[in-house]
Order: sequence, then C-alpha cells, then structure tokens
Amino acid sequence: MRLLPALILGVPMIAQTLSPVQERADRFLKLVDAAYQSLTAVQQEAAWAASTDVKPEHDAAAEWAGKAGAAFNGNPALIQEARELLKSRSQLNPVTVRELERVLFNAADGPMTNPALTGRRIALETKQASTQNGFTFMLEGKPISANGIDQILNDSKDPAERLKAWTASKENGPVLKEGLVQLRDLRNGCAQELGYKDFFALQAAKHGMTTDEMLKLHRDFLTVLKPLYLQLHTWAKYELAKKYKQPVPKAIPAHWINNRWSQEWTGMVEGVDFDAFVNKEKGWTSEKIVKTAESFFQSIGFPKLPETFWQKSDLYPVKPGDTRKKNSHASCWHIDLDQDVRSLMNVEPNFQWFSTAHHEIGHGYYQLAYSNPSVPPLLRDSATTAFHEGMAELMSLATRQVPYLKASGVLPADYKADPIKVLLAEALETAIPFMYWGSGTMTEWEADFYAGDLPVEQWNARWWQYARDFQGIEPPELRGEEFCDAATKTHINTVPAYFANYAVATVVRFQLLDHIAKHIVHQPPQACDFSQSPEAGAFLRGIMERGATEDWRTILREATGEDFSARALIEYFAPLQRWLEEQNRGRQIGWE
Ligand SMILES: [Zn+2]
Repeated sequence: MRLLPALILGVPMIAQTLSPVQERADRFLKLVDAAYQSLTAVQQEAAWAASTDVKPEHDAAAEWAGKAGAAFNGNPALIQEARELLKSRSQLNPVTVRELERVLFNAADGPMTNPALTGRRIALETKQASTQNGFTFMLEGKPISANGIDQILNDSKDPAERLKAWTASKENGPVLKEGLVQLRDLRNGCAQELGYKDFFALQAAKHGMTTDEMLKLHRDFLTVLKPLYLQLHTWAKYELAKKYKQPVPKAIPAHWINNRWSQEWTGMVEGVDFDAFVNKEKGWTSEKIVKTAESFFQSIGFPKLPETFWQKSDLYPVKPGDTRKKNSHASCWHIDLDQDVRSLMNVEPNFQWFSTAHHEIGHGYYQLAYSNPSVPPLLRDSATTAFHEGMAELMSLATRQVPYLKASGVLPADYKADPIKVLLAEALETAIPFMYWGSGTMTEWEADFYAGDLPVEQWNARWWQYARDFQGIEPPELRGEEFCDAATKTHINTVPAYFANYAVATVVRFQLLDHIAKHIVHQPPQACDFSQSPEAGAFLRGIMERGATEDWRTILREATGEDFSARALIEYFAPLQRWLEEQNRGRQIGWE
C-alpha cells in the first residue's frame, strides 16, 4: 500500500532517502495535521461564541466542541503512535520530531487514556470560564463593569473610594474558589496521564525545561533586576503617600496602585500621561485606534488584515441597553489555523486601548505569518508561547516611544518629553513591577498550587505572602481565607500556568527592540521609531514565519546573534537607575 510518493508529502529534498520510519511519521502526521486543523476551527468557533455572547447554550456548544477536540487530540492510539515514532527520533527530521512532541503536548490537555477525567476537566473549565465571564461586580449596591472599576482606580485620589472599588474587584474570588479546587486536581491528573509530575511540569516542558529550571530562570531575572526594583518601589511609595496625603508606608497598600493586582503601576508619572492625547476631544475613536494599529504593521511591510478580521472580530464594548455579556479580557484568536484571525476587545478611545490594540493585532500578524505552507498546522504557533507575548508586547512598547507617537499623530510635533520621565513611566507601567508580579507572585503561586500541594486553607495567605515578598505590596485590610484573591485573576482560572510567559516575553521584547534599534534603524533603544522600516518588519517576520518549527532559543540566537538574556532590559533602564538613586537619597529603601 505504499503507493504515495514522498514528494506529495512536501519533503522533496529528502525524497530519495526517506527512512521507513520517516515515511510512517509523514503518513501519520498528514492525517493528524488535517484533523487537528479542522477540529481546532470547530472548537475555536464555539469558544468564540461563548466568550462574545455568554449564555448557557453557547457554553454547552463550547463544551461539546471541546470534548470532540479532546477525543481526537487525546486519542490513545495517537499518543501511542507518537511515542512509538519518537523512539526512533534520530532517524526523523527535526520538524517531524517537533510535530510529534506537539501531538503529545496537545494530548496532555485532554488525554483519552482517561476519558472520565478529561470529560470532567472540560466541563469544569467551561463552567469556570462562564462563572468568571458572567460575574457582575457590585459597588455600593449597583452593578459596575470591570472597566468601571478600573476607571475609579485610575482617577480617584480618595483612598476610601479607592478601597471600595478595589474591594469590589475581589468579590468574584470566593465564587470561583470551589471550581479552582477541583480544576487543580483535574489539570494535574491530565498531565500525569502523559507522564508529567503535575500540570506545572507539563507547562515547563513546553519550553523545553523542567520545573526547577523554569523557576530558576524567573528567580534569576528577579535577582538581577532587584536593585532597580527597590529604587522604583521606593520612589513610588513616596509619590503615592504624597498623592493620598498618607504617611510613607514600608510596603505599598494594594489599593494605592491603579491596577487591581498591582501588576502595572500606571498614572504615576506627571507629564508623560499620554491619555491626555488619546481621547474623544482629540478626535480619537475606538475604530481609529484599531486602524492605527493595523497601519503600524503595514508601514513595516506587512499586508492589510484580512477582510474577515473586520467582519468577524468583536472589538468594542457592548452598546448600552444591549444585554449581551462578553469576556472583558482582550485577546486575539486564530480560529482556523489559517487566515481567520479575530480579536476580542472592548476598545475605548484612551491610551491604554491604543497600546492594547497594537498588542492584540501583533498577535494577529504573528498568527497570519506562520500560517504558511512551510509550517504544518500542528506547529502554527509561536516558537514558545512567550514569543507570542514578546512580539505583541514589542508593539505595545513601540506605542510608548515618543517618535512613533508623533508619527502616528498621537503627540503634536512640538511635544517635548523629558527622557527620564518617559523611561520612568515605561518601567513602572510596562516592565519592572510587572516582572515581580509575573515572574514572582503569579509564577511562584501557580508552582505551589500545581506542583507544591498548597493546602486550600493557605491559598490566600500564600498569595499575599508572595505579593509582599516579591512585589512589596500588602493588602489594604486583612484578607483571610474567606477570600480567594488569586482567583480574581483571569489567567488563574482559564489560562493556567501561563503568566510566566509574559515575564519571559518582557525580557524577549527588550532583546528584540535592542536588536532593531542598534542594528537595523540605528537609533537609541529608548527613543526608537521603527514604524516605516521594512527592514525591521523583515527581521520580525523572519522570526514569525518559522512558527514553532524550531526551538525558541535557537530562533532567538539566529535572529539576534545573542543568547536569551536580560542584558538588553537592564541596559535599557540603566539611565533611570542612576536618576532614581539620586531621587531616593536618604530615603528608606525596601519594605523589610
Ligand atoms: Zn497577549
């Protein structure tokens, strides 16, 4: 029955010398790729409906589609054949090996070696997502949206009012706690079916690492960045104490920070508040924001977004009076692993959405770039998940650079920025506190949660211990175990053990920017506009187009000539570090 010439399988270069095991792998993967792609489309379409219009029938459809996908991806015959073929990995070409490994990673999400376990996990994940997406926050007896809470935390200078809003934002935690108790065991159980110790170990393996290697990577970041973080933290707490007319604390109370989890510290640097330039009065609309993000990519040589992006995306808040509920978390979806890319956002005319729109559309262009004939559907993904976020964050970073903001009409041509303040805002709002949240609190808590058997009666205590130890943030009031503040973070429920990616992404994005700035557009990384540079676009596309066909560290090294490292990040903020040390002279540094 071996009538199919290898030529048809798309590997003509080695057609004459194909080993029997390579032929067997090619036949197997041809089938798996086709089925994987069509089932992904069915699943994504159903999940999309459930996220953009939260209602029981959509949840049910998403659950069914999830089960169909899992039945295939987790099929025991698939697992067995992939394992069998990988025993002869030295006789297989490297992309084939990566595809087979991907088959096993996909299987780990829903292994049908244990259908009851997988079924329970899918049902509960759907329910958890629905509880989370459909939750109504209440403030002083009235419903308030997540955007509404953020607005108060952005604007209010009254600590009492802030405390109320912050407290309201934590109300969904207890509601989500019970589901999380079960989800931990179900996720761990599924990972164990594939031979991993726990769910966290499985996620680390997707980066080609063990749990210990993964944790070490993150702890190393935090060690090298600590001198800068201590200076930023000190500067911030003195500023905030002045703003709220309070004594200077040791650790910063969580409701003093604009972000509900203190993950980004926005609105603290006067004079670089770009919000003043992106609003209705300045002629910005939600539509114009999304179009500007698309134009950025076109200016560096990417094509227009496909027509279907505009037809099928859900980009703006639900209109007043419409009772439809949608997920409030911005995301970009690759529905069919081909050209059907969509984004879910709630874009409003402000700077945060200006930045977020560039981020999400960055994901979209990445998805479109690796949807090409040299990347099989199983590997239509970033080289590591962190690359997806890194690439998307690079675009948000680009939106903070004054030369780009002038070029895109956000800032007037005569706008003068104080470079240290721009750097300070950037560090606070996008990079440094974020590392202590992402690599610190989130990653360590999730490692404890999945790998460390963290007892349920210690969840909240451990959460706040890490917030204090890593971030120097403390709760405004006692947060006992009747709360579940970790569960208020979307990712903990529905995108588990994922946040570590954003921290790695932060490091990667500075490395990419450093390369573009120094070697392509020859500008300082701290004030670099690479819009209008097709060479920068070609450099990025070179990484994007390879999808997951190669190890992420190799792709990064080949593209930049440098190993993965926090070097660029530290160099970028070196001028800021010196300035902060001046400002903080004589102040009490740290929170011990
Ligand atoms: Zn993202």
